[in-house]
Amino acid sequence: MAIRPVRAPKIIIIGAGVAGISAAVTFKKAGFDDFVILEKGSDVGGVWFWNRYPGLTCDVPSQLYQFGFAPKPDWSRVWATGPEIQRYHAEVVDKFGLREHLRLNSEVTDAVFDGRGWVVTLADGTESTADFVIAATGVLHHPFTPKIPGLDTFTGDTVHTARWDDSLDTVGKRIAVIGSGSTGVQVVSALQPGASKLTQFTRTPQWVLWAPMGLTQSKLVAKLLAASPTVHDRVYAVSLWASGILADVALRPTWRRRTMQQLARWSLRAQVRDEGLREALTPDYEPLCKRQVISGTYYRAIQADNAELVTDKITEVTPNGIRTADGREHPVDVIVFATGFHPHNYMRPMNLRGRDGLHIDEAWAKGPRAYRMTAIPGFPNLFTVLGPNSPTGSISLQYSAELTARYITRWLHRFATGELDTVEVTEAATARFNDAVAQAMGPTVWNTGCNSWYFTDQNTIDLWPFDRKTMTTMLTEPDDRDFLIDATADTSAVFAPTTI
Ligand code: NAP
Repeated sequence: MAIRPVRAPKIIIIGAGVAGISAAVTFKKAGFDDFVILEKGSDVGGVWFWNRYPGLTCDVPSQLYQFGFAPKPDWSRVWATGPEIQRYHAEVVDKFGLREHLRLNSEVTDAVFDGRGWVVTLADGTESTADFVIAATGVLHHPFTPKIPGLDTFTGDTVHTARWDDSLDTVGKRIAVIGSGSTGVQVVSALQPGASKLTQFTRTPQWVLWAPMGLTQSKLVAKLLAASPTVHDRVYAVSLWASGILADVALRPTWRRRTMQQLARWSLRAQVRDEGLREALTPDYEPLCKRQVISGTYYRAIQADNAELVTDKITEVTPNGIRTADGREHPVDVIVFATGFHPHNYMRPMNLRGRDGLHIDEAWAKGPRAYRMTAIPGFPNLFTVLGPNSPTGSISLQYSAELTARYITRWLHRFATGELDTVEVTEAATARFNDAVAQAMGPTVWNTGCNSWYFTDQNTIDLWPFDRKTMTTMLTEPDDRDFLIDATADTSAVFAPTTI
């Protein structure tokens, strides 16, 4: 017999990117629509809103990089561009009626648990209350710009890829790109053709796996997928299954990993003939250890007549260029920082306080940690979506976000029926989960001796070291033994019945 809900949980979702949209649609589908989405930016999309640098493309195939609940048959390319992905997010928000829940330009500065629920404050001082807070604040959100001596004396333009200035004209300019990650490689490929000179400054070479990233998706495929949602669902399921190969490659040192690593080595050998340049581009760690870079254009771009790779350490920025440790000054007009993010901030620097005033910085003094990516001891009725240990680079982020959101709806249901008022994961369960994570990291490729943004300051790897099946098992049915569940209120007296 269905349990009759007696109250609708009031929910605040922070962030309107992949995680926030997944949570909102999942809650709405489950009948919980008393929620607002607070988004700091002026549009939805998260990283796809903030990142607008030239060449921005998603190196995950689009038929996989989409929400399970919103299949898009007609991606124009097999690997979609940033603008097309951003348009898709806006369409999903419209299609699922999320606009009415959305508060744009609304940066959350404080979220404080008052013993019963949450008080959330925006930068403009507006306060709201909620029974549950969902932190869908993203991973790669706060850009990192290195402090280079003399940077403030530079007379040209500087820009970080994650905060691209659309008015910046790079054509015919001498451009410096600092960084060799996924972003650096994409921006070098995009800017080199129009530059009078492009100099890429790298500290650590990256393996760059070749793929035809510009490949268009056949119109026939789009028609077939649009004609049959069942076929499209199958294609999505097969894509998810196939992506399990990537997880397997990352998690276990098998012949499959070695084959993929050979492909990365071959990509370099086959495309870069000059021995000196090839040597400068050859990493001293295993392929796949850092987040694998994928490109079909980078090696061509860096070998162009107007391009130069500089591996000498940057010592200072001068008014007209960049000086390196060999004493050389490289004259440039524009400096592009493709230097990545502070990847372990999550919802910080928010003043997030849980039970008894516990601040998130105290709770995370030894690095970000959450039980099964979503629950933090000391923070009742708060869940993260794509929080610590999310599977960047091994399992579909959309799948993980939707799975986590469905897991959270289990708690929402129990709140709605009056079975609980607050729920908080135990310290013991979180410690157990983190011990299992640490142990499972052992044989992963991320742990084979490179320095990557996956590592926290405490030298732990902030990724998901299990396969998708394990993730699904962990996030299907909550285990009450891992939670402190409090149900003291007389719900029928306090809340009006709803018809969820
Ligand atoms: P990143 O991978 O963290 O790379 C930052 C780069 O900046 C590295 O080459 C780093 O060198 C360099 N760097 C940092 N500080 C420096 C300094 N002081 N001097 C010289 N070089 C410095 O950042 P990202 O390229 O923006 O990529 C971040 C993540 O975003 C990716 O790993 C991926 O997960 C995601 N992403 C995805 C896509 C996609 O297509 N799906 C595209 C772009 C980004 P070291 O290696 O020596 O630290």
